[in-house]
Amino acid sequence: LGLTRLGVLGWPVAHSRSPAMHGAALRELGLDGWRYQRLPVPPEAFAETVRALPALGFRGVNVTIPHKEAALALADRASPAARAIGAANTLTFAEGEIAAENTDAPGLMRALGAVPGSALVLGAGGSARAAAYALARAGAEVAVWNRTPERALRLAAELGVTAAAGAVEAAALVNCTSVGLHDPSSTFKELPVSADALGRYACVVDLVYRDGGTELLHEAQRRGCRVVDGLEVLVHQGALSLEIWTGRPAPVDAMRQAARRELSPQPALRRPSAAAPGDAVG
Ligand code: NAP
Repeated sequence: LGLTRLGVLGWPVAHSRSPAMHGAALRELGLDGWRYQRLPVPPEAFAETVRALPALGFRGVNVTIPHKEAALALADRASPAARAIGAANTLTFAEGEIAAENTDAPGLMRALGAVPGSALVLGAGGSARAAAYALARAGAEVAVWNRTPERALRLAAELGVTAAAGAVEAAALVNCTSVGLHDPSSTFKELPVSADALGRYACVVDLVYRDGGTELLHEAQRRGCRVVDGLEVLVHQGALSLEIWTGRPAPVDAMRQAARRELSPQPALRRPSAAAPGDAVG
């Protein structure tokens, strides 16, 4: 009753850490009447579901795989960043309108802290587009490598960066492929860089995150690189979304702690103040 709702739409979305992260943030901010919930929605029901959310008390939602392009397409307004990237991860409902933003791009820059002079982005999917856009806008010289070279060429032409045929030197290496997510042992077979070559990059970022860390970051750390993991990027994109919805500075430390707390497969330790199981739409 009278709740202000937020959530994350994905398919699947069961393993998203966003509900834990935003739940902790809402508690920290003392926003007792706010809830953030998982919204598993298949692609065919995406647009219809989003349009129904404002009437159910939703202020905004995060959008994840596979809905980020569809989110941009259905919005009434979109930021220049979301338009250039071609995807939105944040929708805000206000005054009868749906506004689209992409906080993956500034989230990466906040996680990085300082702007690297140059960056090699691996991948040409949605997250690579956000990374290349953010880094180039911030003034870095950006090269993009992708397994399927045509996609790197298209990304490069559209975003005004360079396509690379291999692992060119740069200050930062940013992995935006899904390599390392399911089979860590194949990481250096599938990426164009060997473990020994990682030492050439002062900073290595891996958007992929998994319990125990990724092979790419383990090897980078062993070679003295500064490393930034995908959870740190997730925390900052979430913080930026929350700031849009609440108009208040996000409690980043509380969000980081909640995101990093290892998720047990059994949701037995549900915190009493988190959204209850029945606290869902419909
Ligand atoms: P996407 O649009 O599906 O793009 C996937 C990319 O990975 C493509 O460039 C693809 O290359 C490449 N790839 C897949 N398998 C490969 C392989 N075996 N060898 C070499 N390249 C391969 O996905 P996305 O949305 O950009 O996400 C990419 C990863 O980043 C995901 O694992 C996701 O979990 C992670 N992510 C993290 C955050 C965060 O906040 N930390 C945010 C977004 C995404 P081709 O073009 O050749 O297929």
